[in-house]
Amino acid sequence: MIDRRIDCRNARQGRHGAVAMRNLTGIVRVGRHRIMIGIGHRVMMRGLRYMRCVVVVLVRECRRVRAAEKDGNDQQKREHGTAHGFSRSSWPRAPQPRGRLMFQILGNRTYRNLFAAQIVALLGTGLATVALGLLAYDLAGADAGAVLGTALAIKMVAYIGVAPVVGAFADRIPRRAFLVAMDLVRAGVALVLPFVDQIWQIYVLIFVLQSASAAFTPTFQATIPDILPEESDYTRALSLSRLAYDTESLVSPILAAALLTVINFHWLFAGTSVGFACSALLVLSVVLPRSPAVARSGGIYARTTRGLRIYLKTPRLKGLLALTLSAAAASAMVIVNTVVIVRDVLGMGQREVAITLAAYGAGSMIAAFALPRILDRIGDRIVMMAAATAMCVMLAALAIVTAYYARAPLFWPTILGGWFLLGIAYSASVTPAGRLLKRSAHPEDRPAVFAAQFALSHACWLIAYPLAGQLGAGPGQAAAFGALAVLAGIGVILAGQVWRSPDPEAVAHGHDDLPLDHPHIKTLHGGKVNASHPFVIDDLHRIWP
Ligand SMILES: [Zn+2]
Repeated sequence: MIDRRIDCRNARQGRHGAVAMRNLTGIVRVGRHRIMIGIGHRVMMRGLRYMRCVVVVLVRECRRVRAAEKDGNDQQKREHGTAHGFSRSSWPRAPQPRGRLMFQILGNRTYRNLFAAQIVALLGTGLATVALGLLAYDLAGADAGAVLGTALAIKMVAYIGVAPVVGAFADRIPRRAFLVAMDLVRAGVALVLPFVDQIWQIYVLIFVLQSASAAFTPTFQATIPDILPEESDYTRALSLSRLAYDTESLVSPILAAALLTVINFHWLFAGTSVGFACSALLVLSVVLPRSPAVARSGGIYARTTRGLRIYLKTPRLKGLLALTLSAAAASAMVIVNTVVIVRDVLGMGQREVAITLAAYGAGSMIAAFALPRILDRIGDRIVMMAAATAMCVMLAALAIVTAYYARAPLFWPTILGGWFLLGIAYSASVTPAGRLLKRSAHPEDRPAVFAAQFALSHACWLIAYPLAGQLGAGPGQAAAFGALAVLAGIGVILAGQVWRSPDPEAVAHGHDDLPLDHPHIKTLHGGKVNASHPFVIDDLHRIWP
């Protein structure tokens, strides 16, 4: 029923024929329908060359780091340093060795293995996304779009609903066992998916798969600051993780298209399964620091909402949420409407769609490389606010250009430039989020706060995606650009209102309700009711002063 072959499309004539002949195109035939999964030859070669560069750089850096490690074991002390309470080694900031590179943190074995686990799991997820589309087409034919839309909605429900519940209990569960279990659940679901023959079964399995992801991702993210307590190391880890996401979006479709020319799409699920199994093995190979056990009061509701309460009472995190809305506006426009702008408005082909998306990805990657050095010098607030403002301005400018100059010869280069700049701004506005979350909660509360960010950011996308899609399909792309510029602008204004500058870690406050011999007053307050110390929302500090 399903067959694949390399399609050389010799029948096509002229210039396009020559291009098409060098394209790697798989045709999957389902009944009477044919689906073509193609990737431009040049795009694929560029992707492969990029992958080779990344591998070469990684290997070179690992060697350098190993050599540097032999010189002194200072670094080792820091890697396994303190991860308890307020004794943050990052504060005051440690002197930076010259020429410190992003990849140097891969010298830390625990982090290296976790990073590898993240990459293979991401690749698996990317393959599953492609395979799921084909499976939906296999089962539902022309209604595949509706099936995938429902699957996406289920994913959002799982992300927004499940993440906070898991975050509430993550501090009680041994982290490594929990992460491995979630990986195994996902591997199991991917193994079962090819045998599905009813659409409702897809929905159930997608819910289980995405719930496991919603449990895995924030817990995983909250573990990294415990492994890399040094602020500058953690910043580099955040940038690497941004690069991993960008690489995944670039490599997964290429890998899937290449694999589909030799294997049936059902086997892509096997690839996904192997990815998650490898991820589980890599997590199993490391020892994760135990989060300090803290007795928590309150029932399930109080525990579930704890992360959200900390999040929504912290001014800088409220600012982060507003800026996430701006970032969602820009990325929704790119993800939802790139294909429509390039194919419909410009009348160009699939290759140009890939190039346009690559411009956005390239901007995002360049920003990820530059960010650690920038954030070492400039504060998060300035970088993130500037990036969000830039996104708002660029969306507005693109709205005007699209409304008046969509037929102009330079429209595509303008879109390419705009996408590149939006990529830079997007990366600069979302990558520092982990630093803000780390700074705003005790280590034991971090999983809950990361889970809150995970859920709330997806709520932002739930607003931005339909807005971009509906306006693009109805009133047109200029209207979509304009509305998303307004959405991004609202985010910037709200962020400016709730997240004031300066934003110091130590905040002056008092405890009128505590006796003078309370341990907290004695230690962090030096015996006085009013004092200043690094401030986060917790049981003793329930309201931001
Ligand atoms: Zn206090």
